[in-house]
Amino acid sequence: MIPLIDLTAQYQQLKAEIDAAVQQVLDSGQYILGPNVQELENEIAAYLGVRHGVGVASGTDALVLGLRALNIGPGDEVIIPAYTFFATVGAVLTIGATPVFVDIDPLTYCLDVNQVSERISSKTRAIIPVHLYGHPADMQPLLELAHAHNVRVIEDNAQAFGASYAGRKTASLGDVGCLSFFPTKNLGGFGDGGMVVTNHDHIAERVRMLRTHGWKKKYHPEELGANSRLDALQAAVLRVKLRYVDKWNNHRQTLALRYADRLSGLEIGLPHELSPARHVYHLYILRLKERERVIQFLGKNGIATGIYYPQPLHLSKPCVALGYGENSFPEAERASHETLAIPFYPEMTDEQLEHIVNCLKMVVS
Ligand SMILES: *Cc1c(COP(=O)(O)O)cnc(C)c1O
Repeated sequence: MIPLIDLTAQYQQLKAEIDAAVQQVLDSGQYILGPNVQELENEIAAYLGVRHGVGVASGTDALVLGLRALNIGPGDEVIIPAYTFFATVGAVLTIGATPVFVDIDPLTYCLDVNQVSERISSKTRAIIPVHLYGHPADMQPLLELAHAHNVRVIEDNAQAFGASYAGRKTASLGDVGCLSFFPTKNLGGFGDGGMVVTNHDHIAERVRMLRTHGWKKKYHPEELGANSRLDALQAAVLRVKLRYVDKWNNHRQTLALRYADRLSGLEIGLPHELSPARHVYHLYILRLKERERVIQFLGKNGIATGIYYPQPLHLSKPCVALGYGENSFPEAERASHETLAIPFYPEMTDEQLEHIVNCLKMVVS
């Protein structure tokens, strides 16, 4: 079976370096936060071109603590795309704020910036653009709009580590950037992990406090915080992988071009890369009219597929109470019926790619 993503291939390639880094942590006795986490925070901040990185327990927590650091909570509205991974809306609901959805751009699957202004109200406190599948949302008009309305921008960069927009790295463009190190992400650890990045000193300081029970001085909490810290094993692994992430992202682009070249002319919607965005292809997403038939055929031929995501957020159970029904966001709903991820990871071989292309050519005209 050709998997959607093969995480062991990446480990095998770096086994000696990763094993040494892990052993060093095991020997050090420092397992939560500590020097490896601090170094990773500095290295990622430098890589992205921001002042601060604060390691937390997951990408979801990065969103929750980022929102809390901006003092967003009950009674506040947060604008988000109707089509993304559930964690984006989960974070907004967790802090008690009200998610306000906008539909997506059918080409990039990111929020349609043209629809944002009509959703801004006197209660809007933030907008969360999601750089879905590795393609940056259209940040320039979004930042202008947010600035004009005095609304904060929190980038959900979980799927787009290393992507850029007009020459600047995503996660560095808004007030707060949220990273996930879930194993399948473009920079992934061997467990859960995340980071909040920001240029604002006070936001970084607040997240540092919130991730450790709300205290700066041990055992003297200033507010109710959380236990949400990055552990040293993950940080040590991520520091090794960070040195390779550009190489992997470049190769993702090469593979994406090869897929696009070999699949052109078929009745298949292919990913787009809209200037000035640089896509890092977290996933390779096709758009298909007869998705189920393609899934069956590829499966019979030893090719895994995945649906990201089968349900738009506004139709998910935790969001029913918000009162959106079917047909509220037609592009989000269409995407949930038509998109299909095919195997894609930097270590994929040419033979695997050719087999997948040939099978697609047999099943789609
Ligand atoms: C993965 C992901 C998250 C959450 O990250 P975790 O580390 O899994 O908590 C948030 N948003 C998006 C778009 C994601 O893909």
